[in-house]
Amino acid sequence: MRKPFICANWKMNHLVNDASFYGEDLVNRIKMENVDLKKVDVAIFPPYMFMAALKVLFFLTGINVGAQNMHYAESGAYTGEVSPAMLKDMGIECVIVGHSERRQYFNETNESCAKKVKAAIAHGIRPILCVGEYLEERESGRYNDVVKEMLLGSLADIDADEMIKTVIAYEPVWAIGTGKTATTEQANEMAAFIRSVVAEKYGNEVAQQVIIQYGGSVKPDNIAELMAMSDIDGALVGGASLKASDFIKIINFDPAVVGKEPAVVE
Ligand code: PEP
Repeated sequence: MRKPFICANWKMNHLVNDASFYGEDLVNRIKMENVDLKKVDVAIFPPYMFMAALKVLFFLTGINVGAQNMHYAESGAYTGEVSPAMLKDMGIECVIVGHSERRQYFNETNESCAKKVKAAIAHGIRPILCVGEYLEERESGRYNDVVKEMLLGSLADIDADEMIKTVIAYEPVWAIGTGKTATTEQANEMAAFIRSVVAEKYGNEVAQQVIIQYGGSVKPDNIAELMAMSDIDGALVGGASLKASDFIKIINFDPAVVGKEPAVVE
């Protein structure tokens, strides 16, 4: 049984007060809606500078805090970078690796992603490896080959035990921040394809345990349909994760599964 995993990628948004307000608001809403965090994993990926405050606000709540990126080296002369050891030291549970914006604007490659996935796991941090094709690659019909190459390149040195700990986020670049969502069928077809690539390399038993998320204009009104698909186990959410009032509706995508009816407030 794969546990749903819902992530909020704030990207380069919010200021100190917004981050604190969001943290408190989310904790309250999770309580009010009786969301059972034993049934769904939730992680917030704020800019680095808000992590410590959110770790305090989320203490003992079960909400995880993740990083949007990290370097793969333990320490050293890498000005402006943050290491896996630093993240682990402050209790950070997960890290996004190879988001399309990092690949596009910061020269992230499959090779650097492979080192980051390996380093994250070595430090007990759950990596969320992002893969996804551009619009022209979708339209030319090459999308499966493109995603397979990204996957195999970014998982180069990963063994079966490490694979089980790695989350894959399928994020078609043409659907990120565009309001254009892949159809649930397109998203599930690719999630199933990703699972088959993992099965080819690591065997079906491993592939069946790997959490595969969809990301690309996920919203409160399309999450339930996406989560009902056979191979989609979670979501990586950008724009619609910026307000706790929207994100709670995504976390609680099926109140029959993860929460109950909201408590009645007198
Ligand atoms: C993302 O940042 O990974 C993302 C999917 O963004 P959005 O939900 O805004 O499309």
